[in-house]
Formats: sequence, C-alpha cells, structure tokens
Amino acid sequence: MSDDDVELEARLEEQEVFEPSDSFVGQANVSDDAIYEEFDENWPECWQAAADLLDWEEPYDQVLDDSNPPFYEWFTDGTINASANCIDRHLDERGDEAAIEWVGEPVDEDNVTLTYNDLHEKVNEAAAALRDLGVGEDDVVTMYMPMIPELPIAMLACARIGAPHSVVFAGFSADALATRMNSADSEYLVTCDGYYRRGDPLDHLDKANEGLSGVEHDTDTVVVDRLGPNGDDFGHDLADDQHDWGDLMAANEGAEVEPVDRDAEDMLFLMYTSGTTGQPKGVKHTTGGYLSWTAWTSQAVLDIKPEDTYFCSADIGWITGHSYIVYGPLALGTTTMMYEGTPDHPDRDRLWEIVEDYEATQLYTAPTAIRAFMKWGSQYPDEHDLSSLRLLGTVGEPINPRAWKWYYKHIGNEECPIVDTWWQTETGGMMVTTLPGVKDMKPGSAGPPLPGLDVQIVDTDGEEVEPGRAGYLTVNKPWPGMLRTLYKNDERFIDEYWAEYSDTDSDDSDDWVYFPEDGAKIDEDGYITVLGRVDDVLNVSGHRLGTMEIESAIVGVEGVAEAAVVGGDHPVKGEAVYAYVIVEDGQEESEAFRAEIVEAVEDAIGPIARPEQVIFTPELPKTRSGKIMRRLLEDIANGDELGNTSTLRNPEIVEDIRQVVQGD
Ligand code: ATP
Ligand code: MG
Repeated sequence: MSDDDVELEARLEEQEVFEPSDSFVGQANVSDDAIYEEFDENWPECWQAAADLLDWEEPYDQVLDDSNPPFYEWFTDGTINASANCIDRHLDERGDEAAIEWVGEPVDEDNVTLTYNDLHEKVNEAAAALRDLGVGEDDVVTMYMPMIPELPIAMLACARIGAPHSVVFAGFSADALATRMNSADSEYLVTCDGYYRRGDPLDHLDKANEGLSGVEHDTDTVVVDRLGPNGDDFGHDLADDQHDWGDLMAANEGAEVEPVDRDAEDMLFLMYTSGTTGQPKGVKHTTGGYLSWTAWTSQAVLDIKPEDTYFCSADIGWITGHSYIVYGPLALGTTTMMYEGTPDHPDRDRLWEIVEDYEATQLYTAPTAIRAFMKWGSQYPDEHDLSSLRLLGTVGEPINPRAWKWYYKHIGNEECPIVDTWWQTETGGMMVTTLPGVKDMKPGSAGPPLPGLDVQIVDTDGEEVEPGRAGYLTVNKPWPGMLRTLYKNDERFIDEYWAEYSDTDSDDSDDWVYFPEDGAKIDEDGYITVLGRVDDVLNVSGHRLGTMEIESAIVGVEGVAEAAVVGGDHPVKGEAVYAYVIVEDGQEESEAFRAEIVEAVEDAIGPIARPEQVIFTPELPKTRSGKIMRRLLEDIANGDELGNTSTLRNPEIVEDIRQVVQGD
C-alpha cells in the first residue's frame, strides 16, 4: 500500500457517518426529507403512492381494510395483473429495450438479451402452454430451476393466468422439493435437465425426479433443455407425465393470452421459508399489495429508473430475487440482469466483469458475498472499470463496518451510497434502510424505518427500550407488502408472527404487533442496528449475548474473513461460546492468531464472551441467502446428531467440520 492508501484506510476506519454525494442526491428519485412526515400524517393513504406506480384494471375502493387484524387487506376490490404490469404496459415506450439481460455460465457464450417485446412473446407462449397442460387460475405451479431465463418467463406466465408460483431454490435437496409440493398440493412442476456449475454440466432432473417420487399426488412436469448435447451423458428420458418446454413453446408459437384480472388480494405466489428450524412455512404474497411494495421500494431505495441497467446478484429462488430481480424492476420498466454460475468462476472477477461489460448502474448483493470479495482482495475489482455504478445495496444479514467500508471504497469508489436493507421473505420488500437520496449512512446500521412504517425496538414486555440497548424489533402498523398468512395455516401465522406482542383477542388493529423474530438496537437518531435472529442469542452464565456482536468483533480482526459463533452446552456457564473462523488468504491458522481473536472478543464485549474454542474452517454451512445455519454448528459443538441439512447450499461441508471438531 502507498502512503496515500494507508492514510485513506485510517480515515475510513475512523469515520462513522457517510453523506451521500451531491451528484447522487441531485438525481435521486426521492431526495426530500419531508416524505417521512408526509407519510406519517397521511397514513395509510400515503400508500396510494405505491399503488399509483401500477396500472390497475379496476380501481381499488379502500387503501387498507384493517377490520379483521391480523388479516389485513390492501387496495380492496381493485383488480390488477402482475404480468401486464411488468411487461405489456412498457411495450409502447420500451418494447425494443432490454427487459432482462441474462449472462450464462461462460461455457458456450450464449448470453441472452430479452427485450420487452421478446419477453412478451415468450411469456404469452409459456402461459398458453401451461394452460394447455391444464393449469387453471389458483393452481400452484412449482418451479425448481437455476438462474436461467425460463425461470422468470415461467413466473410471469403463471402471473398472467393467475396461477401462483412456488419457486424452490435449485440448490435445495429432492426432499425439500417434495415437502413443498406436497404442502402446497402443487400438481405442476417446471424444471430443467441440468445446468452448468464452474464450467461443468450438472444433472438436475435426476434430483427433480427423486423429489417427484416423494410427491403424494399426480403431477405434470415441464422440462427445460438447458444443456443440449452437453447433457446427453445423463441419459434422461422424459416420462409420460413429463413434457419438453421447447416442444410446448413451439406448439404455442405466436399465442396471445389475455392477462387474467386478479383481485388485489389474490395470491401472486408462495415462497417457503425454511428458517433455521422446523417445518417450512408457506409465505403467501398477494398481487396488489406485494407488487405495489416492490415497485415503490425499487424506486425509492434502489433508485431505479427505466434507463438503468440494474444488477442484483441474488438467486431468484430466494425472496430477494423475486422482489428485486423480477417484480420490482420489471414493474418499473427497467433492464434487470441475471447471471448463472458463481462469482469466482472462471475467475474471482466474474461480477466486476459483468458490471463493466453491461455498464451496470446499481449492484445489490449480500454481506456473505462482500466478505468473500474482501477475502479475495481488491486486485479483482481494481482491474475493471466500475464507474457506471451509482448505488450499492446489501441484504440478508447484518454487514459489519469493515466489510461495509471495503464495499464503499473498492466497489463504489467512495461515490455510491450504500443501502443496507433489512427485510424478510415475510415482509415482501424492504422495511428498514436509508433512503439514499435523503439520509446519511452509518456503517453497520441499516438505518431508520422507511417512511410510513412504524418500527419499534422493545423489551420482552413490549416496552420501547432506551437507545443503545438491545431489544426486539417489532412492526406496529401493517404495510402493503406484508405476508397475508401462511398457506392454509392461519393459526400458525398468528402464532409465529403476532402472538408474542399482540392482544390476540382484540379486533382493534392498534393491538396487533408484527414480530419478525429479530433482535435489534436503535440509536439517538433513530437508526436501527439489526443484531440477528432472536434464537441466535446465547446465555452465558446468565448474560445474554448476541452471536452477531461477537462475530462482528471477530471479523474486525485483520486476517479474519468470516466467523460464526454458537453456544455449546457447558456444565458451569450454561452455554459456552464456540467460534468458527475462516481466515483470509495468506493468514496463518496459528495459536497466536487464535489468541488474537480471543483477545479481540474480550476487548469488544468483555471476558464473559471469551470463546471456549476457536475452530478454523475453510467454509461454513450456508442457506440459499448465504446465511450461516448456526443450529448445525451447535449440533456439532454439542456432539449431537446433525439436524436437517436439506436446505443448505453446501451440505458436504458439515461433515468436514464435524470431523475437525469431534475428531473422527
Ligand atoms: P430461510 O432460510 O428459511 O429463507 P431466513 O429467515 O434466513 O430463513 P429470509 O427471509 O431470506 O430468510 O431472511 C430474513 C432475515 O435475514 C431477517 O429476519 C434478518 O434476520 C436477516 N436480514 C436480512 N437483511 C438484513 C440486514 N440488512 N441486516 C440485518 N439482518 C438482515
Ligand atoms: Mg426468517
């Protein structure tokens, strides 16, 4: 590093508040601070602003019907079609502009640009094909596909005919597919023969078929041929109830399907969230509220404009991809990107190459990815021209200040605001984050709640806690993008999200409080730092410690790339802290480094949080959204039998770690 760099690093390290640049603010979709007050005063009518971003078939009567909490209804009696809003209405002005830029694994150089006209054609053909198969309004169609263009095409085709989709992440196991199809009584599956992973063809249909064998009812399956002759070795023959996507599309060439009028409250899709525990929950999202929410947040937070080339590197099999690759950006008529593969193949500059080639204007990714980029080193982004970027975003888990600053400096060149967006599958879209054209940023803190949202940090009795103290995050007023229920399980919906802080006997909406099960604290300026889920809190000798706080102290140590902290049973302390640590390239896994880590935790939090063991590992078990599945690490620490690994993206790693810790 040059002296200038050293000085810059030192300055960045000290800095706690960052202002958005004048040039960003000057062009931002939202740049007036008055929006917070306006929305508060005009609630819930303020949410017309979101609904007005869409074209409605029949106008709605009432913005919010809160007469039967927590079963809220938004934009009642309005009718609308999501596919028409994401495609048809843009054709006049943007028919020849790219709707989707797809960057395939660099195997056969077959990148695809789908203009809005192309997308219209394909979605109509797919909608006609699904109808031919018998798919009717309200039939749930499951999709088990990687990041190929047919996935958003199939989703939008379903939306067109009013059939809710249920997308299962392609990396999930056959078991996970079967459970979800059974739970949703889904009789249709769209999948593919295989896909490329790090340059090699990977069989997918085999896994899909294994899943189908566990489905208790008859099904029809549509299979996309992704691999062509490269998949011949897998020797797949389609069964009688399996149909080739290409054949179905050809048979419906040129078909036009009238978008079905959906009631605002009709289901748009189901998304199962497995969480870290128990039975998957079928989160139900509706057409009017969800689409309004994703469109509004895409505009206000991601600052999307039609002429942008917006890049979210998430997988569509995760809610982030639904809301912020497909529905939000397309509702606004912009160009949305999707890529197949991994950020480190063919080299660790894959994303930067894509940003440069396509002149991407926004990048929305996850802390787990940012930590990996940081671990690989800044030489990879440095090789590329990233000056097209105007805004950066992160989602999925708390981002520690060191990673935030690395992202700000090395990807955003200290010019792009970063939006650290807290939200969940259940909230449909963003909830807590800065409006980038309005608010200063504080690394490590997501920011204030969005305008029109009432978020509080409370103690176990539901009383607001003092600034700086840890508590539980609650949402005290409904919002359009909220889940409406858990599929066919209203009781569990109330139990999981409302019972904790609501008067469940009351019909008064003011007595109902949504509990996302995350811990958080708030500062004097109303900025919220999310500490992680409540079940990630340890009890060491009677002290409650957040795993996130300990992890943040550990990843603050130079040479640490990533850390996961769990509680293991301890005869004296109740629970003891186990720290799993990934080191950066070039860092030695020595006893001295272990001691340094332990000391950093003691310095940051106190001796009570001192790790009992520091375990070096090359990888951590991750969910599709890149979150560490701590309960598995807990099982390992306790020498227990391993829990369900079917929703991991890297199940093989668990056994490796177990061997290191338990030594057999
Ligand atoms: P599953 O694995 O079943 O999908 P999940 O809860 O991990 O379960 P998501 O809905 O994708 O699934 O994740 C939402 C959770 O992610 C939030 O409840 C919160 O714990 C965490 N999270 C998301 N964004 C942020 C953020 N910006 N800062 C802190 N935590 C975040
Ligand atoms: Mg969750």
